[in-house]
Amino acid sequence: MSSLKFLGGCREVGRSAVLLDTGSEKILMDYGIKLSDSESEDGIGRPEKVNLNIDGVLLTHCHLDHSGFIPNLYNRGYKGSVYATATTFDLAKTLWEDSIKIASMEGRQQDFVESDIKKIQRNQRRVTVGQTFPIVNSDVSIYGAGHVPGSSSFIVDTGEKTVMYTGDINTNDTRLMNGADPNYPDIDVLVMETTYSDIDHSPRKKLEEKFVKKIKERLAKDGVVIIPSFAIGRSQEILLILRKHGIKAPVYLDGMSVEATKKILRYPEFLRYPDELKKAYHNAKTPYNDNERKKALEGPSVIVTTAGMLGGGPFAYYIKEIYDEENCSILMTGYQVEGTAGRKLLDTGIYEPEKQGLDVKCYYEIFDFSAHCGRKELFDYVEKIDPEMVIAMHGEKAEEFIEDLEKRGQKAIAPEKGDTVSF
Ligand SMILES: [Zn+2]
Ligand SMILES: [Zn+2]
Repeated sequence: MSSLKFLGGCREVGRSAVLLDTGSEKILMDYGIKLSDSESEDGIGRPEKVNLNIDGVLLTHCHLDHSGFIPNLYNRGYKGSVYATATTFDLAKTLWEDSIKIASMEGRQQDFVESDIKKIQRNQRRVTVGQTFPIVNSDVSIYGAGHVPGSSSFIVDTGEKTVMYTGDINTNDTRLMNGADPNYPDIDVLVMETTYSDIDHSPRKKLEEKFVKKIKERLAKDGVVIIPSFAIGRSQEILLILRKHGIKAPVYLDGMSVEATKKILRYPEFLRYPDELKKAYHNAKTPYNDNERKKALEGPSVIVTTAGMLGGGPFAYYIKEIYDEENCSILMTGYQVEGTAGRKLLDTGIYEPEKQGLDVKCYYEIFDFSAHCGRKELFDYVEKIDPEMVIAMHGEKAEEFIEDLEKRGQKAIAPEKGDTVSF
């Protein structure tokens, strides 16, 4: 008899963490945090504590909602291995180091320190897509997830059952990556993300065309087009789109996106057009101080920069310079979570992180780029895999999703934090 204990990421996006107990081994799958958690004192949502007698940790990808609490395991004395792709380890290191910096800047509780990241480096087991490796008596296989470079899904074959843990998944091709191909062996239990179980994304090609048309239209007004983007994945996709569609204005790349792009270029196996990304990166200018940023603002120009949800990074500098310039633009490229500066700007027209609040008069719009399956793809995914049981995680609408699955005759569960499911 095996069981899954859900330590976080239940009916919410953030702090994904599941413990698989096969009877002979305990395997932790992801151990993330929730950024901007209104219920915790310091705003960080942590997963439930796990006993350290685990036999291995599987990390699907670098994002902090999956990786953010792994260094804390080492802080508490964990001495075992973490399994992930080399790309994921490399990118996660950037995010872990950044977490330490931000926590100390904000005077928050430190869940881990630099030396814990070094401990991960000593205990990391780099695995590649297509590989199968053992953890005690179970065999673990790794598949590409199409979400961000390095992202993967794991299938654990316990000898009695096969359990698949998707992490974040995208079956659609984007300009950056090929979508996940759900050609898996037989799966008994499918633990899946459901971020967009209530939203259908518009086809990528159409979205790209609409986005590029808007950029061209705005550049024709001689203004600056600022494209706030997530450092990992989205910034690189935007660089590729700008190149593909022959945007003539100078392109700038700023913030953590620069380091992320350099790292991502080290792992061309995850990219659809690695040479194009290399060229796009080399053609982009990378401002390294505010004087350089001033030059970038001498439009017409395009600036791809962090933060993706507008709450910091060089974006905070740029917006102060352009917020009341009607020929300038802010084109958001990802979902703006409730409570973020981006969401507030969309809802109120005010950029709040500034003390007085900036009454934003420049043009702004959001484009629904996504690195996750939409509603239709999630249902297609389940249908293709046809498991005995679906466990829906990583989504605020997980309960509605399983109701819809049950109507289609699929056994499904949306666990709550702390629940254990046996099979
Ligand atoms: Zn993710
Ligand atoms: Zn996630």
